[in-house]
Amino acid sequence: MEHSEIMELLPAYVDQELGIAETLTVQSHLDSCPECRREYAEQSALSKCVRTETAYFKAPPDLAARIAAHIPDTLPQDKPRRISLPSFPASWGLSSNLSWLQVGTAMATLLVAVWSAGLYLNLPTADDRITEEAISNHVRSLQADHLTDVASTDQHTVKPWFNGKLNFAPTVIDLAPQGFVLEGGRLDYLDGHPVAALIYRRQKHPINLYIWPANGKDAGPKAESSRGYHVVHWTADEMHYWAVSDVEESELLKFSGILRLATHQ
Ligand SMILES: [Zn+2]
Repeated sequence: MEHSEIMELLPAYVDQELGIAETLTVQSHLDSCPECRREYAEQSALSKCVRTETAYFKAPPDLAARIAAHIPDTLPQDKPRRISLPSFPASWGLSSNLSWLQVGTAMATLLVAVWSAGLYLNLPTADDRITEEAISNHVRSLQADHLTDVASTDQHTVKPWFNGKLNFAPTVIDLAPQGFVLEGGRLDYLDGHPVAALIYRRQKHPINLYIWPANGKDAGPKAESSRGYHVVHWTADEMHYWAVSDVEESELLKFSGILRLATHQ
């Protein structure tokens, strides 16, 4: 693909809207083209800034009406109405004479602050987001009957298949003796990265294990559940591991335990 075509794809690449094939093409071009790398860095910085520095929340339609209902219709121009708050002890540091306008403004500010904090606290975390995405990928891999790109129970066949397709080498270990049979591998895309998907099977239940490089330190394992699926994820040796299945959560935790032991040998 030409340099100019890559430039056109960059905004979609930054927003993670490209398919796997285009993503990989852009990535390999970026490895060799300093100009596109510079442009990519600028666009990502801008995109990140927009995502993190600004937050837009749509106010419920009746919020303005409810606030308006609590504000008196008319305020005297020359002499604001005063309310006395004689029951508050002086030590509270409250002025005993506050205008309705001041009280109204303070209450409106407080209302908006509490309401915004509630919205903020309800925002999904990065883990929640990846969990939902991992489950969607798992479901799609089963629906589209596209569980494996390379079908093999031999780890020495599956591991080399990823060569040249990813810029990292996933650890591939068959766990058939422990009851988790390796069935193959597939390229997938998760959390904005091309990832290795390894497919294992526990009796009738397929398990997708997504692997991609991590910058952070070791973490987990952590178990999450959503939509009837279980997810266990951990970070080890600078790799993220996310296992998804409809198998029992205890089985998935066992799978992660065996795998973590095996990869540390
Ligand atoms: Zn270029």
